Amino acid sequence: MLIDTHSHLYKSEVPNAEQIIKKCKDNNIKLILNGIDKKSNLEIIQLSKKYDHVYASIGYDHSVVDKVTDEDIKLLEEQIVKENIIAIGEIGLDYHWVKNNKEKQKELFRKQLDLAEKYNLPVIVHSRDSIKDTYDILKQYNLKGSIHCYSGSLEMAKEFIKLGFYIGIDGPITFKNNVKQRNMIKNIDKNYILIETDSPYLSPEPNRGKQNNPMNLKYIVETISNELGLTYEEIENLTTNNAIRLFNLKL
Ligand SMILES: [Zn+2]
Repeated sequence: MLIDTHSHLYKSEVPNAEQIIKKCKDNNIKLILNGIDKKSNLEIIQLSKKYDHVYASIGYDHSVVDKVTDEDIKLLEEQIVKENIIAIGEIGLDYHWVKNNKEKQKELFRKQLDLAEKYNLPVIVHSRDSIKDTYDILKQYNLKGSIHCYSGSLEMAKEFIKLGFYIGIDGPITFKNNVKQRNMIKNIDKNYILIETDSPYLSPEPNRGKQNNPMNLKYIVETISNELGLTYEEIENLTTNNAIRLFNLKL
């Protein structure tokens, strides 16, 4: 069994999402779907009710920072209370394209971290070109979670792990020139490694450039097992157990 701890397999993002979700069941892959806005959060809640191998993580990401209202935060809290939500995410900071709304992004991030603390839920964090601010904010909380699609340094990975955060590994680890990341996973505590696809994005080799799906997790597992000198099954068990522990999954 594999657990894809981060993907966006819902209709508004991937038209044939349900077909892929069904295929995951046949391939013994469990999914944590991640919402980014009101619409995807609702879609995910529905999918998690319909399929037992699907778990819901909901939140508002940086892309909707200008749209989220106090009402929306209230709605998120209601959903956390009423529905079976295993994490809050994806949430976080992204300074790659837009740099003039950093304070607003931080405020939205903090509001959702407050909810995670209040309801004792892990968080799934997006951080792009914002690693220092992300770390400084998370340090002020007593939370655990994952730094999804981690692409930072070995040193920062170790700092996040000290805070109680897991490191999400995606398709780019399979890219030939990504020596930095392969070196990073060899040198961190392996009990903090998670695997994720971020489907439909970030397809690993040999499917780079195509629409991604969780069946491609195996290439990430293969790469990690080569690097760590462990068998495929050992990495499968390791990453599955890491995900179960972090997200408190009832299988
Ligand atoms: Zn994502």
